[in-house]
Amino acid sequence: MRILVTGGAGFLGSHLCDYLIEKDHEVICIDNLITGNIGNIGHLSGSEKFHFIKHDVTEYIFIPGHLDAVLHFASPASPVDYLEYPSQTLKVGSLGTHKALGLAREKGARFLLASTSEIYGDPMVHPQPEDYWGNVNTIGPRGVYDEAKRFAEAMTMAYHRFHGIETRIVRIFNTYGPRMRLNDGRVVPNFISQALSGKPLTVYGDGSQTRSFCYYTDMIEGIYRLLKSDVDTPVNLGNPNEYTILEFAKKIIEATGSADGIIHKKLPQDDPKVRCPDITKARELLGWEPKVSLDEGLKKTIGFFSKSV
Ligand code: UDP
Repeated sequence: MRILVTGGAGFLGSHLCDYLIEKDHEVICIDNLITGNIGNIGHLSGSEKFHFIKHDVTEYIFIPGHLDAVLHFASPASPVDYLEYPSQTLKVGSLGTHKALGLAREKGARFLLASTSEIYGDPMVHPQPEDYWGNVNTIGPRGVYDEAKRFAEAMTMAYHRFHGIETRIVRIFNTYGPRMRLNDGRVVPNFISQALSGKPLTVYGDGSQTRSFCYYTDMIEGIYRLLKSDVDTPVNLGNPNEYTILEFAKKIIEATGSADGIIHKKLPQDDPKVRCPDITKARELLGWEPKVSLDEGLKKTIGFFSKSV
């Protein structure tokens, strides 16, 4: 296949480019590099099957030749990033999704949207199944991401229903691994970099809020299965093993041998109190479930970060 990946220089986007190239597809990667990193795709630059275009997908996207699939992964994706780039986050989820869908329609290509567990907001149903509609504060600081992705899902389904294009929607839960930016503010790079540089781990609030962490290799495989499937309604992908943030901090301390303890900081506004994917649908329709344990994934991620701290 000839596949376009928007946000292809980001953490997940670049791993997706690698995976697609390994499967012998041709990949066109677009990124404006505001939160993406050209270093994530540097090793692909010699490949005839890989092309990089520096472009902001909120502007018209012109791609010569045919395309079989458009995978829309462009967006700031950490709370710290989308607070720094609120209007870009809203624009890439709305205008960017519109442009990427328009391109897919023009080319007769399949479209896959990278959506998020954030569309469930601070959930009232736990774990979250796909048919839960969510609990989002539209005007809160996280609303820029949550609402952009909710709009993106609505726009994707409108193109599916009205224009008949083939669409896939993946709701990605917390995912971690090599190539996350050390300073992206998310809990995994924050805790690991703090532990490796002799600082206490910053647990926000009392640490009783929960998250479930999926290693990137499991996530990428799930995304590829979804792309190839015939499932045109949203599918949760994530690891259903749930930890409190305090438990997670203790895991990092154990895995790094840090002796600097934990300090508590203010809980950010609208921080979801719980989050855990119900992956029944992915299990049944894609035959997918995560394989990599947290211990194994953290070991590899700590190895990656220890080279840059
Ligand atoms: N968090 C924390 N310390 C940090 C960074 C994050 O306690 O240094 C908490 C944050 O408040 C949230 C959880 O870890 O409850 C996950 O945060 P992250 O920014 O990774 O993403 P989110 O899951 O909120 O989108």
